Amino acid sequence: MHCPFCRHGDSRVVDSRTSDDGTSIRRRRQCPECQRRFTTIETASLSVVKRSGITEPFSREKIVNGVRKACQGRPVGEDDLALLAQRVEETLRATGSAELDAHEIGLSILGPLRELDEVAYLRFASVYQAFESLEDFEAAITALRAEHEAEQGAEHEAEQGAEPEREHVAQHAGSEAPSAGSAATGGPFA
Ligand SMILES: [Zn+2]
Repeated sequence: MHCPFCRHGDSRVVDSRTSDDGTSIRRRRQCPECQRRFTTIETASLSVVKRSGITEPFSREKIVNGVRKACQGRPVGEDDLALLAQRVEETLRATGSAELDAHEIGLSILGPLRELDEVAYLRFASVYQAFESLEDFEAAITALRAEHEAEQGAEHEAEQGAEPEREHVAQHAGSEAPSAGSAATGGPFA
């Protein structure tokens, strides 16, 4: 692999470490020309099989673009979308499949999107679950209401809007911290 500093045509691996969840390997490489070190991350490539049968690489950007339409006019920022796409990718990688159906990806977006914004969720679900009638919307809204009622037993009504999202960010940061944190501080530029 090329050195990203001096473009020398070769580099050698000086250390390899598998991530805690086993889905990636970080390698520290050193350039024999300029002696500088850099890190590469190796993950299994994730492919998406579209309805047409065409296979393309999984892309977080496409997830973001797909969900952004459903979020138009909603209080959802770019950071929220990026985090959602990251969660979707983690969920898909955790299945262990290297090839995924486009429909599976749509379904894996529903959970995180529902936590983010329920109106956007309903818009998105109506497409991916092919809602055909008002009854389909009604059923989805009834399911959301039932969950709200269950949640309200534990939480104050006033906190409903912000709480689940903040909770989810904190959880996420917590699960990311051990691998990303140690690699960043101890790793490539140390
Ligand atoms: Zn170099």
